[in-house]
Amino acid sequence: MNTFQFHSTKTIQLAKDAFSANENAKFLSGGMTLLPSMKHGLIQPNHLIDLSKIPELQVLEESNEFLTIGAATKHDTVATHPLVQSAISGLAYLASQIGDPQVRMRGTIGGSLANNDPAADYPAAALALKAHIVTDRRVIAADEFFTGFYSTALEEGEVITQIKLSKPIKSAYVKFKQAASGYALAGVFIALYANQEVRVAVTGVASGVFRWEEAERAFLGSEMKPDLQRDDVISDLHAPSAYRINIAQVLFKKAAQQIKNNS
Ligand SMILES: Cc1cc2nc3c(=O)[nH]c(=O)nc-3n(C[C@H](O)[C@H](O)[C@H](O)COP(=O)(O)OP(=O)(O)OC[C@H]3O[C@@H](n4cnc5c(N)ncnc54)[C@H](O)[C@@H]3O)c2cc1C
Repeated sequence: MNTFQFHSTKTIQLAKDAFSANENAKFLSGGMTLLPSMKHGLIQPNHLIDLSKIPELQVLEESNEFLTIGAATKHDTVATHPLVQSAISGLAYLASQIGDPQVRMRGTIGGSLANNDPAADYPAAALALKAHIVTDRRVIAADEFFTGFYSTALEEGEVITQIKLSKPIKSAYVKFKQAASGYALAGVFIALYANQEVRVAVTGVASGVFRWEEAERAFLGSEMKPDLQRDDVISDLHAPSAYRINIAQVLFKKAAQQIKNNS
């Protein structure tokens, strides 16, 4: 691991100032992806700007329509907070399934979304729950935020401050864990809104999270094995593409049954 300078900041403005004053800087949130990447020599930042103690990034509040979660909110808080459990139970469950207790006590929702690992859990929730990713510069709809393999619409030095999620009537997340890492070999999030609006988002299966529109139509009908055809389905030593597709179909059925049985 290279040597670096650590900058502890207490406001978003101070974090932005530290970022622009220093070359080769990275924001640090929970460090659960950044620090392993540094240890493996994949990235070698000279400055780490710590976001974890900024009060504005810790909010967790509810309105009639939205649940708003600060970017530095830890996975464990999302999993256990009564507001999240009552407003979006599928999201609380999803957070409880990330990594292990150590990862959940440090990793954050903002860090996970900024990183956009194709097997991460939160991107599926953000896309299904019509998230608005609030940054220090603008508001980005989840539909435009995830732009591909580990890439997002974030610009250089842009900080996610909050994630604003539309509260569904019901939600469910089902994940099939990759045995060694615990990341999603496949994960399916379903959000059901008033007026029969359904959003289904899938992680782990392709080069990035995606909405599965055949499954959204299937949810409203009786078909429980929707077609899944994409040209970027992952095929690797953990699972060939046909297996991943089959798992996604099985997970969709389970998540749909959870929602339909919980009437
Ligand atoms: C053993 C292990 C198991 C794991 N298992 C899972 C799993 O099952 N499911 C899963 O989804 N994830 C898993 N993870 C990843 C974990 O969820 C991380 O917490 C997450 O990917 C990154 O969040 P972080 O807060 O640690 O971000 P960091 O590592 O601090 O940062 C990650 C990236 O995001 C940037 N960043 C951080 N915060 C912001 C912000 N507010 N604005 C802009 N950029 C920002 C950083 O500069 C960096 O590039 C696992 C990690 C480990 C180590």
